[in-house]
Amino acid sequence: MLHIPGAWQRTARGAGLLSSDGTVLPTIFAEMSALAGQTGAINLGQGFPDEDGPAEILEAARRAIADGLNQYSPGRGHADLLAAVAEHQQRFYGIELDPAREVLVTAGATEALAATLLALVDGPQDEVVVFEPFYDSYAACVALAGATHVPVPLRWPDLTPDLDELRAAVTGRTRIILVNDPHNPTGTVFDAEVKAEIVRLAHEHDATIVTDEVYEHLVIDGPHVPIATLPGAAERTLTISSGGKTFRTTGWKVGWISGPADLIDAVIAVKQFLTYVNGAPFQPAIAVGLRLSDAYFDGIAATQGVRRDLLGEGLRAAGFGVSVPGGSYFTVADAGALIEPGSDAADFCRALPARVGVAAIPVTAFVTPAHRAEFSTLVRFAACKQTGVIDEASRRLAASGA
Ligand code: PMP
Ligand code: GLN
Repeated sequence: MLHIPGAWQRTARGAGLLSSDGTVLPTIFAEMSALAGQTGAINLGQGFPDEDGPAEILEAARRAIADGLNQYSPGRGHADLLAAVAEHQQRFYGIELDPAREVLVTAGATEALAATLLALVDGPQDEVVVFEPFYDSYAACVALAGATHVPVPLRWPDLTPDLDELRAAVTGRTRIILVNDPHNPTGTVFDAEVKAEIVRLAHEHDATIVTDEVYEHLVIDGPHVPIATLPGAAERTLTISSGGKTFRTTGWKVGWISGPADLIDAVIAVKQFLTYVNGAPFQPAIAVGLRLSDAYFDGIAATQGVRRDLLGEGLRAAGFGVSVPGGSYFTVADAGALIEPGSDAADFCRALPARVGVAAIPVTAFVTPAHRAEFSTLVRFAACKQTGVIDEASRRLAASGA
């Protein structure tokens, strides 16, 4: 058996990827996409679109390559993308940023999260408060940073936090409150009261707020309200986003962070030794995307709304309980009525591709092992697919009695 040294052990364990014999398992996305591939199932598991992004963005990337933008970009990012991120934050949210000091381009939101956690926490005495279930890289990066992960549950069927539980989780040991809004996997859009309480608690305990807003333009009954726009929040908030979801370019891995210059500098100190820089020709192309008309951004939210509703109807017809998401690509469904006694959502999802021809993700992959039982019947389905595909998946689920 391969010996895996400390940091990787911690990461794999934090992410729930270390099996009892010490083997590192693939992420749930890799596992379920591989199963979908082997069985020819419709992949409503890993969240990636099944159509290309806007032609002008794709053309801008081709042009950048043809024009020779093929060497390292500047450390903070291509100047045009830094400017476009600042303009975007101003245009949509009224946030004023200095593009030269308060914006950093990263290798997707994934690197932004990793570099931020590695930069801002230092050992087990530092706690990171995370809503649970959580996007899988959060637990892995908290573990990699050697910090302590403090989950706050989002319970079925509302999938919203209880304010008393949130208050109990944030203490003098909290260094970071990590908020994914809209939230993966639940699709929850945090309401004004929750966001205000997060800011209040961060002030009370001198914590930094880190937000992951990769689904910012997929709030179905918008508008999206970044936490950084709340009174007193901007000075202690790092806001992370990415072009992957907004422009249907998940393979390009162009993300960014914005916020106070001293926090950005701390993140750069780590980021420069992770990737240094990435995606030179894709950066100006994402800048073109960020400057698209309002019609584009309104259009993707409206389309997602149609797909969410279609998937929700299909899941209900197939016997699932459905929690209606406010945003993101995802819908969480309760498969309690469909799961064999003695098994759980993970078993159900491993069998689903071969049995029904549909792949989905068990929510148990997004929780700490101690809380697995509370989420044991929940399944995440991705609705970032064309309507015909969602219809066919719904038909298969209904026909099989799921
Ligand atoms: N955060 C969340 C909540 C996500 O769903 C994802 C994946 N799509 C990421 C971060 C990673 O984004 P990127 O592909 O830009 O690294
Ligand atoms: N963010 C995508 C999802 O939640 C998957 C990204 C990945 O495979 N790491 O489905």
